[in-house]
Amino acid sequence: MISPENIEQLMRPELKAMKAYTPVEPTDVLSQRTEIPAEKVIKLDGNENPYGCSARVRQALANYAYYHLYPDPEQRELRKALEEYTGLSSEHIIAGSGSDELIDLVLRLFVQPGDKVINCPPTFGMYPFSTDVCGGKIVNIPRRKDFSIDVAAIKKALDKRTKVIFVASPNNPSGNLTPESEVLELLDTATIVVIDEAYSEFSGVTMARLVPEHSNLIVLRTFSKWAGLAGLRAGYGIFPLNIVKYLMRIKQPYNVNAAAQVASLESLKDIDYLRSTIKAIVDERERLLTKLGEADWLRVYPSQANFLLCSVLNGKAKTIHQELQTKGIFVRYFDTPELKDCLRISVGKPEHTDALIAALQEIC
Ligand SMILES: *Cc1c(COP(=O)(O)O)cnc(C)c1O
Repeated sequence: MISPENIEQLMRPELKAMKAYTPVEPTDVLSQRTEIPAEKVIKLDGNENPYGCSARVRQALANYAYYHLYPDPEQRELRKALEEYTGLSSEHIIAGSGSDELIDLVLRLFVQPGDKVINCPPTFGMYPFSTDVCGGKIVNIPRRKDFSIDVAAIKKALDKRTKVIFVASPNNPSGNLTPESEVLELLDTATIVVIDEAYSEFSGVTMARLVPEHSNLIVLRTFSKWAGLAGLRAGYGIFPLNIVKYLMRIKQPYNVNAAAQVASLESLKDIDYLRSTIKAIVDERERLLTKLGEADWLRVYPSQANFLLCSVLNGKAKTIHQELQTKGIFVRYFDTPELKDCLRISVGKPEHTDALIAALQEIC
């Protein structure tokens, strides 16, 4: 019989060497680990929507009669609804199992082993993750101190093997936008420019309308954050027509499951309610910014998204992160070369802000 070692020799060596992605843990796991009842857990670590999905989504999912049938591989109804929502023709739109799937699909289409992908850290971890899986080579061009992207350094790093540039705007975890002038400068290069707008609805800014006139611009969006559908995996992208044609060929036919399609469609029908929760989150973000700003041992960065990045100036970020956990409050802790002693706090409901501020006052 073949040994486990021999099986490992059959595997792709570059994938065996890959670092695992650090995902956020679900509430029940956090609850068990800390012995805090799940309903008491305050989860501010995943940029998820504290108001949940629309009640109409729950109803539509309960009433849907066709779970036994495969969903439409061309996603016609959803793409039509997204046409109305985005103002761009459905021909430009493809839905995915979260925008994470679309990041992977774009890389599969463009990146051959050894091709380069530009990443601007600190930023979303899925770009290097999916690049690694595709055998691409990540070229890191760090953001400046104010977290703006370094366009000159990006341009200098480009060569024949550079295929894709990823820019999250608003950026996760820093919350800042990349201005249109800089996006246009990147579009002048011979690479694919992916603007990841996972938090667009909290900023009111989008580059989507630039897609039809640029054959190298891709804009990614998601229902995970603003519509509260992170658990159902529903994202989409706006692509130039020449790219749509090939992505449609290489995507799995049933990549967006029926429940995700039903939920996305119903969210778009309940848009007024969802806009009211976006407004509540944005208002709460500003209140949280003010409250956190009162602590002289914290530096809080302004944000156009549904989270705030804080530098902990007294060197106790790790302790604070742990102490908050013992009180049932979960935030994201960063300790990377680009982000030393930082916490990222997702915006919750007003009572979550109050609990967090009270806990921080007890700890420090
Ligand atoms: C959360 C997030 C996503 C993931 O979106 P899904 O649609 O849930 O896959 C994509 N990009 C950024 C920058 C994010 O923070």
